[in-house]
Formats: sequence, C-alpha cells, structure tokens
Amino acid sequence: EPQKSTVTITGAAGQIGYALLFRIASGAMLGPTTRVRLRLLEIPAAVHAAEGTALELDDCAFPLLDSIDVTDRAEEAFDGADVALLVGARPRAAGMERADLLAANGSIFGPQGRAINDHAADDIRVLVVGNPANTNALIAAAHAPDVPAERFTAMTRLDHNRGLAQLAAKLGCRTSEIDGLTIWGNHSATQYPDITHATAGGQPIASLVEQEWVEQEFIPRVARRGTEIIEARGASSAASAASAAIDQVHDWVLGGDASWTSAGVVSDGSYGVPKGLVSSFPVRSIEGGWEIVPGLEVPEFSKVRIEASVKELEQERESVRTLGLI
Ligand code: NDP
Repeated sequence: EPQKSTVTITGAAGQIGYALLFRIASGAMLGPTTRVRLRLLEIPAAVHAAEGTALELDDCAFPLLDSIDVTDRAEEAFDGADVALLVGARPRAAGMERADLLAANGSIFGPQGRAINDHAADDIRVLVVGNPANTNALIAAAHAPDVPAERFTAMTRLDHNRGLAQLAAKLGCRTSEIDGLTIWGNHSATQYPDITHATAGGQPIASLVEQEWVEQEFIPRVARRGTEIIEARGASSAASAASAAIDQVHDWVLGGDASWTSAGVVSDGSYGVPKGLVSSFPVRSIEGGWEIVPGLEVPEFSKVRIEASVKELEQERESVRTLGLI
C-alpha cells in the first residue's frame, strides 16, 4: 500500500510556486513511493492563474500525483495537510514602512496558523518561505497553540545551499564533499554563514582558504546573493528557492546525507539564542524531527555575528508583539 501525503502550497500561482509544484508532483520532495495530493491556496485574484498551473500539472501525467485542489479558503487548503509550504507573502513595496510590512504579513500568517491548528493533520510539518520568513513562522506558530512549535520552520536552506556552492567553486570540489556548514540567525543580510566546522573531503575548510576570503567574499556573497540574482536576472530567485524548499522538506521527512544542514527552527535556548525565536541553527533530521546539533564550539568571531543576527530577530519579535500579532 503506497503512502499518501497531502501537501498545501500557499502563493501557488507565484514564481516560486511555479518552480515548486512540478518537482513535488514528480516525487522529488517526498520520494518515489509517496503519492501526493496537492492543495493550492491563493488570494482570490490569483486563483484563476493557479487553476492554469493545475491544468499543466494534469498534463504532466505524473504517476505520483493523486489530485489537485485550488482554493482561496485557508480552512479548505490546510484540511488534513501533512506538509505545508507557506510561500505567499506580502512583498515590501517601495516606501513601505517595516511595521506595515510586518502587519500585512501578520494578517496572512496569523489566520493561516489558526487554520493549520484547526484543520491540518496532527503530524503537520510547516516550512515558511515567504519573507520575513523567520518572523512569519513565529506568527503562524503563535496562532497554532495545539501544534507543537517544532512543527513550524523557516527556510534558510537556500542560504545553506548558496554557501555550499560558493565553497565548492572556491575549492574545486563537489558540493557533496562539503560537510559541517552552518547558517545561523535570520534569513536576511545579517545571517551568518559559518565555516568553523566545515570540511571538504574530510579536510577542515578553514585550513584551505584565507580568513580574508571568508570575511571579505564568502560571508557577504552568501548573505547578499539574493540581490546579486535580482541584478543579474531582473527578477528574484525562484527555482533555487523552490529547490531549497524541496531539500529542506525532503531531509525533514526522509533524513539527509550530511552530518547536518541549516534550518530556521524554534530555539530551545541553545547557543544563547533566546527561547522561542525562530532562528537558523545547525540541525539534523532524526526520526522525522529536527534536532539542533549540540555542543559545537563557537569561537568569538562567530559569537558576535550570531548575536547580531539574533538581535535583529528579537527586534522583529518585539515589533510583532507591539502590533499585537503574537
Ligand atoms: P515569489 O513566489 O517569487 O516569492 C514568494 C515569497 O517567497 C516572497 O515573500 C519572497 O520574499 C519569498 N522568498 C523567500 N526566499 C526567497 C528567495 N530566495 N528568492 C525569492 N523569494 C524568496 O513571489 P510572487 O510575487 O511571484 O508570488 C507570490 C504569490 O503569493 C502571488 O501569486 C500572490 O497572489 C500569492 N499570495 C498568496 C497568499 C495566500 O495564499 N494567502 C498571500 C499573499 C500572497 P521577498 O518578497 O523578500 O522576495
């Protein structure tokens, strides 16, 4: 008897959604033996476009795709969901204040958290992609008191993958040979891509590259890669974001190959990150749950950078508290 999984995608008619749906339906996310029911959530104005994507999904004749439903009602979209990818978010418009952005997203992620609480499967796994992802995950989790907080995560896997790609290019090796990279903190320009424990083919990367390269090129390039892509493509990254979302859910459900990866998870107080913040950590998937890798040494160079990003997360949490969103 094959397994079945209900996967809900919000913002399904967007750029990331378009790059995401076909790969999920092909089995890239949940493996070649799990059948998938897709539920696409959109705002009313974009439902028609999502229905168009559903027609194309039909036309792929994917053997694993059981059904596709399109709706603008969150209760319907999350009904029985095992996996939820929260992609749709309110983008920052020119001249928009940060508080307005957080408020706009609060009105999206609060009700979605509530709908997940009331309608999703007990073992729901939520990955927030829409920005500001960490704080949107915090808002959604706050509205889902019956769902364990560790079921809500934010995507920093794209930052992680960007880091792997930069290191592999620098060292002339394959990304699969690199292990022990960590993204800490917020999915923003303050994030800290950390090579302290990273190895390439078993050799410490810190002994293979100049510290100056790490500080002047690697860290800023990974942290600002989104802007680099926009400048080159004339549009935000979409396929790489979708690919990272698939990687993150794949490893969460099925386990990964590396010693650890990076994900935004609810802090248990590890590494001095205040409890309850959704921050990126080194994590490994154990029996279908993320565990923060314990006991890593954190040198001073790392400590200050982690603290700076965590401070930004605390400020975001303070803002959404003030706005009454959590
Ligand atoms: P995209 O599909 O390109 O992006 C969606 C979200 O992902 C944005 O918040 C974007 O943040 C974020 N994101 C996170 N990481 C990345 C990354 N590395 N690169 C690019 N984006 C990233 O946006 P579209 O505008 O094409 O589509 C959004 C869709 O969501 C629309 O169809 C809209 O109708 C829908 N929507 C649905 C809602 C719902 O279901 N209730 C609510 C709101 C919108 P950033 O803006 O910072 O780039």
